[in-house]
Amino acid sequence: MTLNKTTTIGKSIAIIGGGPSGLAAAEILSAHGHHVTVYEAMPTVARKFLLAGKSGLNITHSEPYEHFRTRFGTATPRLIPALDAFTPADISQWAQALEIEIFTGSSGRVFPKRMKASPLLRNWVARLEAQGTQILKRHRWKGFSGDALLFDTPEGEKQTSHDAVLLALGGASYPRLGSDAAWVPWLAEKGIGITPFRPANCGFDANWSTLFRERFAGAPLKSVAASSPAGRVEGEFVISQHGIEGSLIYAHSAVLRDQLESIGTANLYLDLTPARSLERLIRDLTKQGSKSSFSNRLRKATGLEGVKAALLRELVPDVQLLPPEKLAQHIKNLALPLLRPRPIAEAISSAGGIAWSELNDNYMLHKLPGVFVAGEMLDWEAPTGGYLLTACFATGRAAARGMLEWLEHFTVKLD
Ligand SMILES: Cc1cc2nc3c(=O)[nH]c(=O)nc-3n(C[C@H](O)[C@H](O)[C@H](O)COP(=O)(O)OP(=O)(O)OC[C@H]3O[C@@H](n4cnc5c(N)ncnc54)[C@H](O)[C@@H]3O)c2cc1C
Repeated sequence: MTLNKTTTIGKSIAIIGGGPSGLAAAEILSAHGHHVTVYEAMPTVARKFLLAGKSGLNITHSEPYEHFRTRFGTATPRLIPALDAFTPADISQWAQALEIEIFTGSSGRVFPKRMKASPLLRNWVARLEAQGTQILKRHRWKGFSGDALLFDTPEGEKQTSHDAVLLALGGASYPRLGSDAAWVPWLAEKGIGITPFRPANCGFDANWSTLFRERFAGAPLKSVAASSPAGRVEGEFVISQHGIEGSLIYAHSAVLRDQLESIGTANLYLDLTPARSLERLIRDLTKQGSKSSFSNRLRKATGLEGVKAALLRELVPDVQLLPPEKLAQHIKNLALPLLRPRPIAEAISSAGGIAWSELNDNYMLHKLPGVFVAGEMLDWEAPTGGYLLTACFATGRAAARGMLEWLEHFTVKLD
């Protein structure tokens, strides 16, 4: 690999991975007159982005930006410059420039009005191609061959050389959509430190009885609150075949996963009646005559029935025998023991990835000059709510700007 000092445009750039972070980088680099090729393993780009569109495509969040920029755990200080350069307000403008109308939901989450990813992706790809970006699908990167890049393509194996490379291969969740983390050993053998991938924004296994599982798998629990060391959050979740899943669970999943890893146990504490105080429940339960059935007393005094009442029975032995005070305490603070996170293949996102110590502030790998990285393959995690896509767009753009700066000074021929 040779370093030549030069100042120019029209460099040959490989972006490997056609997800939101790779496409965000392609946008900046092609706009600066470079020859950008996006290599994508799958038959179409951005499959995870398209799947995100099935639940409305939450592109960012409208909470005050000082809070927004702190949602990225220990990676926050490293991500802040990239986020500052492409804020949630910038994302809204960017989407509008792609002729996508957006709106902010009551939760503060920002969505395209049509609640779909495909129109945005279509307009985005069209603009990239108009800027000269070449997108080569069914081109699966297989690692390095010396300093060149090795691909499996429909025409057979190919080697390519470029002036600079961006790896935007995604994390390890939903591997069927393309981000299968197959790259981990190829970078590890170059001495790059990679924090093991773990599920993030994931469901958990719980020890359901066969009866409860058969009757209630798929049932939503609406208007509940859940508490963990992450705090108290109101919302809803779903009983699954294996345990629990849904946005309320994802809000707690990082701390619960960490607790399970460190001490082997973790409870989520549920308030099944957030709108009724403990005192009110005790008073209304005490008023119930002892002649009616437990189900009737519970329904009349607390409003609990269906899956909520069944969950109470599932988790509290002999619940029907409890005095009103004890019963009310369980309803307001029901301990749900969790066994383990669901597998990473089912998680919305992943924690772990390339360690920040391996990158300079321009997102270039110290050990591989001319090779940049962005998106979910880096070691950060964030809750759902548009934070994930925002960080993917922002790091893709930051890596592209880092690459521009580097190309201003050096050409590295990877050959
Ligand atoms: C069901 C679901 C819903 C989601 N909803 C939201 C949401 O509403 N809001 C939000 O902010 N986030 C959401 N996310 C998360 C978000 O989609 C991801 O964080 C984001 O797509 C990651 O972007 P990325 O570019 O880093 O990686 P990816 O989107 O994973 O893209 C990586 C690309 O690299 C390609 N690739 C991988 N290996 C190779 C290889 N060897 N050679 C060539 N190409 C390769 C892959 O095929 C893929 O196209 C959701 C995720 C899921 C699974």
